[in-house]
Amino acid sequence: MKILVLNAGSSSIKYQLIQIPDNKVICQGLVERIGEEKGMIHYQTERHRINQESIIPDHTTGLNMVADFILDSQIGMLKSADEIEAVGHRVVHGGSYFVQTTLITEKVKKVIKDLFSLAPLHNPPNLAGIEVAEKVFPKAKQVAVFDTAFHQTIPEVAHRYAIPNHFYEKDHIRLYGFHGTSHQYVAKKAIEFLAKANTKIISIHLGNGCSMTAIQDGKSIDHSLGFGPMNGLIMGTRSGDIDQSVVLYLQRHLGYTPEEISTILQKKSGMLGLTGSNDLRDIEAASAKGNKMAQLALAMNAYRIKKYIGSYAAIMNGLDALIFTAGIGENSDVIRQLVCTDLDFLGISLDPDKNLVRSKSIRSIESTTSKVKILVIPTNEELEIAEQVFAAL
Ligand code: AMP
Repeated sequence: MKILVLNAGSSSIKYQLIQIPDNKVICQGLVERIGEEKGMIHYQTERHRINQESIIPDHTTGLNMVADFILDSQIGMLKSADEIEAVGHRVVHGGSYFVQTTLITEKVKKVIKDLFSLAPLHNPPNLAGIEVAEKVFPKAKQVAVFDTAFHQTIPEVAHRYAIPNHFYEKDHIRLYGFHGTSHQYVAKKAIEFLAKANTKIISIHLGNGCSMTAIQDGKSIDHSLGFGPMNGLIMGTRSGDIDQSVVLYLQRHLGYTPEEISTILQKKSGMLGLTGSNDLRDIEAASAKGNKMAQLALAMNAYRIKKYIGSYAAIMNGLDALIFTAGIGENSDVIRQLVCTDLDFLGISLDPDKNLVRSKSIRSIESTTSKVKILVIPTNEELEIAEQVFAAL
């Protein structure tokens, strides 16, 4: 079955056409800067790599351009759009309504729309992507895979906030969790690698957005992002955990509006706020040259991750494996080293040489004395979405 996976953002569409069950990527790419003066479309197959500047006024135009590339007589990979049997859509927020991959109907679209207020930056473009794909690939089944679904197993004791009950019951304010497809994918790979289903795993997703999940027997039981994707770890541009009184102080005493505070905490904070860059490669380079703020930011970043490792090991009453994944988790030996230092009381001990090995494959980097496996697992959200769509159909 050929499945087109779409991840539609406010001004971009990431896509991969995947042959399932052999997990072969037929083509992939990105449409970016939709609606801006100059857009860009990237298209890649085994034999061709194209980056084309173009005016892309809206998502419909962008997806039609992708379809044109896929069907092109020279560089295309399909003869007819009807060969695509399903389109899998990443949808960030499924609220409490969607616990699994869901065939998209008018009713499903209405619920995704009702959830706009909970994910104002993500659900509107996700829905736009669905509506455009319905037009461009009318014969294909449209299926939604929700970032929040994997976290629906988080129990009430962990997903509720200690605020008056009516906010939970009427307003649905609770921890939802994000990066679900990534955590689910790497946990599945870890369980295969360990050849053990009953496991206590901490999955650490470190990309531009960062989050951690406590995973017991393959199920998410706690997670560091919450009602929105702002809580927990220090991220590229997001603060992560912060005392709520800081937010009130910014508003009441420093005169910032809620909109401005949202921009400060989501777009100007995190590693960017501390160092002036949100790219960890720049920060590592500055740190190596002795830049004190870069060194402090790296130390703060690792310190926060360590705090969550300690708390998740405590709630699971044990730990079998740590997983590092996503851009930073997979590539930064510096962060992995900082995180795993002085955790031997938990049975976590890193092998410094194995930590330096670069590879695109799953690898374990713990020392021979470590009780806990330390795994580096490349994430693949698109493949996870395609596999879930295949299973659902
Ligand atoms: P992602 O959102 O998963 O694409 O991850 C983006 C983050 O990964 C950025 O902060 C990059 O700086 C970081 N990253 C990518 N490659 C490396 C690398 N070789 N070393 C350190 N950080 C990296």
